[in-house]
Amino acid sequence: MTNAPEKITLSFYRYVNIEDPAALMQSLRAAWEPLGVKGRTYVAHEGINAQVTVPVENRDAFCAHVRSVFPEMPFKFALEEKGEAFAKLKIKVRKKLVADGLPDGSFDVTNVGRHLDAEAFHEALDQPGTLVVDLRNHYECEVGHFQGALLPEANTFRDALPEVLDKLQGQEDKKILLYCTGGIRCEKASAYFRFRGFKDVNQLHGGIIDYARQISEKGMPSRFVGKNFVFDQRMGERVTDDVIAHCHQCETSCDTHVNCRFEGCNRLFIQCSNCAVAFEGCCSRECQTIMQKPKEERVQVQHEWEKKLGPQHYLSRTRIPENYAEPIERT
Ligand SMILES: [Zn+2]
Ligand SMILES: [Zn+2]
Repeated sequence: MTNAPEKITLSFYRYVNIEDPAALMQSLRAAWEPLGVKGRTYVAHEGINAQVTVPVENRDAFCAHVRSVFPEMPFKFALEEKGEAFAKLKIKVRKKLVADGLPDGSFDVTNVGRHLDAEAFHEALDQPGTLVVDLRNHYECEVGHFQGALLPEANTFRDALPEVLDKLQGQEDKKILLYCTGGIRCEKASAYFRFRGFKDVNQLHGGIIDYARQISEKGMPSRFVGKNFVFDQRMGERVTDDVIAHCHQCETSCDTHVNCRFEGCNRLFIQCSNCAVAFEGCCSRECQTIMQKPKEERVQVQHEWEKKLGPQHYLSRTRIPENYAEPIERT
């Protein structure tokens, strides 16, 4: 019996001008398919963002091919195989790599900030007057962030960027440290910060994901507290044992994100295990009541809600119902 070939998971991205994304998509597919590459890759006029798995024996050939197209592309290898198997190779042409709402063509996206590793980031943190800026959304910051960081209130990156720029107005001469989950949001944002007159713009290279790997490898103390929110089944990777968030329903210390069990709502929120039982996995009594209805009735309400709320509604903090923190009996 032969074992299935071992695979490695890796990701890479870069903002770079791509003349013909459709042609690039074709040539990447032609080169990668024979190597057994699977995963998701987006190409746009503004760059490339890829997360793939590659059979171990083809790792070098794959990396060599990527670097023949994008010289010196940095790769990030996953520490352990999470078993998140990609079924096939998907390469798509997109308008943008990340929905950032920035005016295309108005500034040089390749004029990025200085990339810092964990050690250099710590040194910069200790310099007086340094401003640390989290470029993630409020629900990501809520469960974990760097000590002393400016944390956006916004629900999306598109809204977080103008929010932090507004708050930093007049501080263009200070040292700015940007960070995000995996580094890609900082790539674009750091160029935009520079365009907006910030003179000393720095970014955490590889984001919190790679920071966590570096500090654990080097045995360094973490300056990031709590969990790094990621969109997989775990909804977050613990960096330190600190639980800095609270259950949205009873305020006990908790940092477990869940989606409301009523699919028409699907709201992303923090719920402790007691409230999970008391609310049957729902975000509110309203959703709990709907969940207790017969399926046909529930599906009808679901369709109505989806029409009313739009695709991103479940991330919206403004949807927290008035009676949200309704007290429950603690056990
Ligand atoms: Zn609770
Ligand atoms: Zn709900």
